[in-house]
Amino acid sequence: MHILTEADRRRSFAVISHPDAGKSTLTEALALHARVISEAGAVHGKSGRHGVVSDWMEMERARGISITSAALQFSYRDAVINLLDTPGHADFSEDTYRVLSAVDSAVMLLDAAKGLEPQTLKLFDVCRHRGIPVLTFVNKWDRPGREALELCDELVERIGLQPMPLTWPVGAAGHFQGVLDVADGSFVRYARTSGGAKAAPEERLDAARAEAEVGADWTTAREERELLAASGGEFDADRFRDATATPVLFGAAVLNFGVRHLLDLLVDLAPRPTPRVDADGVPRPLDADFSAFVFKVQTGMDPAHRDQVAFARVCSGMFERGMVVTNATTKRPFATKYVQQVFGQKRSTVDTAFPGDVIGLVNASALRVGDTLYAGKPPVRFPGLPQFAPAHFAVARPVDLSKSKQFRKGVDQLSAEGVVQLLRSDLRGDAAPVFAAVGPMQFEVAAHRMEHEFSAPVRLDRLPYSAVRKLADPAQRGLVDSGRRSEVVSRVDGTELALFEDEMAMRILLRQHPELELEPLLAEG
Ligand code: GDP
Repeated sequence: MHILTEADRRRSFAVISHPDAGKSTLTEALALHARVISEAGAVHGKSGRHGVVSDWMEMERARGISITSAALQFSYRDAVINLLDTPGHADFSEDTYRVLSAVDSAVMLLDAAKGLEPQTLKLFDVCRHRGIPVLTFVNKWDRPGREALELCDELVERIGLQPMPLTWPVGAAGHFQGVLDVADGSFVRYARTSGGAKAAPEERLDAARAEAEVGADWTTAREERELLAASGGEFDADRFRDATATPVLFGAAVLNFGVRHLLDLLVDLAPRPTPRVDADGVPRPLDADFSAFVFKVQTGMDPAHRDQVAFARVCSGMFERGMVVTNATTKRPFATKYVQQVFGQKRSTVDTAFPGDVIGLVNASALRVGDTLYAGKPPVRFPGLPQFAPAHFAVARPVDLSKSKQFRKGVDQLSAEGVVQLLRSDLRGDAAPVFAAVGPMQFEVAAHRMEHEFSAPVRLDRLPYSAVRKLADPAQRGLVDSGRRSEVVSRVDGTELALFEDEMAMRILLRQHPELELEPLLAEG
């Protein structure tokens, strides 16, 4: 009973956006309105911002992109909100995919002047693939931008998602006065505070007063909103939940305009945790014994000792610090008494967690991305997280041969975290594993960490492959190895992958050997 009540209070979501749309700003604004309970890792630090900046990744700061991800928890009204951070850069899409496997909904953040941008589209595809309901927040309305109707049309035309505005901006982009609240037709007037450092004051006026005080901009807002309502834009909770339509809000995160409305919407409408389906296809009831799956493994959050932290989403039951759980992959017990150390510099102890929450497990060197943890009997195992089809390959070798032990340790660690996919080729043996990546920046991260964290600098020699398929029948590997522009490598899980210089090289080989059976891998995004 208690567990179900707690689960029902949870709203676990991630923000998907193109870099610069305002994700960090919105995260801070949300935290400002709500009460921050705990912080698992980083609100990624851009200079001067609060938050815990993981020190190992100087690159992250230098480039101004977020590579690490973690979760932030707040309470708002009676709800507990878990905001999971997603990396913004396209090269880390696999990472993002894993984060999105741990949420129940997503907020799609658009820049009012830009609309749907490439990275937003990619991330949206992941949401669609997973059936994740999406809320849309049109940001930066305080600055000149596109027309609200045009932005809504874009959602329909480019991604087939029906917009259902819950607020409509009063004043064109750049002349933001407030919003029409679709729920009751009133006008919510926003007032600026200096620097947006405080929750912005709001004043609510009924339609008649808005008409009298605002005039033309109000009339326009009403007409536009009616136009949209007439073309299928009325709110429909079922269509939101089945991810065919998206509630839309307008705001300006930097001024805190519209942020409270977004929080209310999350609490009122966003999906709660639901029973997760296990590897046998059986939904695990929320109030069953504790279970969780690891969606993110990260090293070096605490500069004092470079510990490994595994982030797991609770799927069922109550987590209590100190409980001993079982890793379904290894069948080994895992003690959780250090779970409290995770929460960065503002250390707050996590004593309990419920379905929808994210726990950070310290000293988690035995845990890999995709692992299931559970308590009690019988055992449960959730489906593993799919790996994307990599498009970049490089042979890794230690620069200093006397460092082969550190090299091995580092390689295993990066593979456990999913920083790169680890492949083995018979040709080169264990001493020279092949790294595979969805985006080349993953190699930079891997090389940087091998050198600075594991004291094992690596040489990465790029391989000339860009196309990959799964080899259906391992007995056919000779066919692929015989090709001049192809070879077979094995994944940690035993899957054999056929690598080709390009799609053309693959088609040529298939023409020569029509009996060759190849299967596609999960496409990126
Ligand atoms: P991220 O890359 O998506 O995390 O974007 P940031 O939160 O760092 O924001 C990028 C830039 O847009 C920063 O200069 C912000 O101050 C600015 N910004 C964010 N939200 C708004 C907004 O509502 N209005 C305006 N004018 N600028 C904003």
